[in-house]
Amino acid sequence: MQLSNRILDLAGGGDAWAVYFAAREMKSRGEAVIELTIGEHDFPTPAPILDAMAAAAHGGHTGYAEIPGVPALRAAVAERVADRTGVATGPENVLITPGGQAALFAAHTAVLEPGQTGLFIDPYYATYPGTIRGAGGLPRAIATRPEDDFRPRAEAITAAARETDAYSLLINTPNNPTGALYGRDTLEDIAAVCKQHDLWLISDEVYDTMVWEGTHLSPRTLPGLADRTLVVGSMSKSFAMTGSRVGWIVGPADVIRHLSNLAIHTTYGVPGYIQDAALFALSEGPALEHEVADPFHRRRDIALALLARQNLVKSIPADGAMYLLLDIRATGMSGQAFAERLLAAERIAVMPGESFGTAAAGHVRVALTVDDDSLAAALARRLAFARTAAG
Ligand code: PMP
Repeated sequence: MQLSNRILDLAGGGDAWAVYFAAREMKSRGEAVIELTIGEHDFPTPAPILDAMAAAAHGGHTGYAEIPGVPALRAAVAERVADRTGVATGPENVLITPGGQAALFAAHTAVLEPGQTGLFIDPYYATYPGTIRGAGGLPRAIATRPEDDFRPRAEAITAAARETDAYSLLINTPNNPTGALYGRDTLEDIAAVCKQHDLWLISDEVYDTMVWEGTHLSPRTLPGLADRTLVVGSMSKSFAMTGSRVGWIVGPADVIRHLSNLAIHTTYGVPGYIQDAALFALSEGPALEHEVADPFHRRRDIALALLARQNLVKSIPADGAMYLLLDIRATGMSGQAFAERLLAAERIAVMPGESFGTAAAGHVRVALTVDDDSLAAALARRLAFARTAAG
């Protein structure tokens, strides 16, 4: 029996995760590998959140929950977004989803006609093209450059919009894999192109609590953008709740109504006890959020201090998120070759920049997801490896 092209072509081929799987394989054979690959905390969900989850489950919140989200959580997300952005936001502007990934898929499904182009910025989080394809769209990457710290130029977005029948643009700030935060200028440029070419803007803000330099600005705050912007948020990174699968879309109320309809026909909502745990976490105030984000800030500073002692391997400014993107072009190796050889020689796993598109070739992404001492030791070994490799 045949499968649909839609499912067969979804992942787009390639082996972006080859180094990750090789590291996992070595680990399963008992080898001591330091994994700096995926964006997952090295600590569990904070205990008070788990207590709230257990209490909600034992309290009986185990049946079908309200499909667009339990009203109190929708209200809490709306209040949080309104507080952080100053844009009037009510529960009717919020759909609770099973994580940011489901939100990305739903948002593209809501705005793209089959075969219509969905733009996104390269380098990118690995699921982006498959998500757009899965939603029926045609993914089209817009390359950024290392010398711009991988922030997009308005001309590049305009050119891509002109050449295609694009109807959406997906951006991510703070960015995975680069750590770049888009400032007002970049976002104003993006806003202008979206208005000129009548694009929906899908703004992936799942790292909005992990900002180390500057302040996070959501494009939804820019004049005229709230009506054409769908913001994707998540509890995964901000509260170490990756496995709980809870996030949201914030957007115009009529879009959220249609998205609730999509949820009825796909996810059927998010478990009530998970939503109650998310509500508890959001109601705790900033201390809990800082407790989860602080280790990544600290490790980023440790890593930058070590990098400052040499000039062979450079980090692009890591303004936020859980990663450093290191420019290893001076070693003469591709990111892929560097990552493969580093794994073989030093048992340290990092992601090749090429796993995130073509723009980050010659770079590797380091996830700051091991304890401070292991990170410092791994980085020192990596720099020694780079020196040897560069000859
Ligand atoms: N967007 C970006 C940029 C990510 O890095 C991730 C996860 N690594 C997601 C979305 C999806 O996260 P989740 O589904 O866990 O919310």
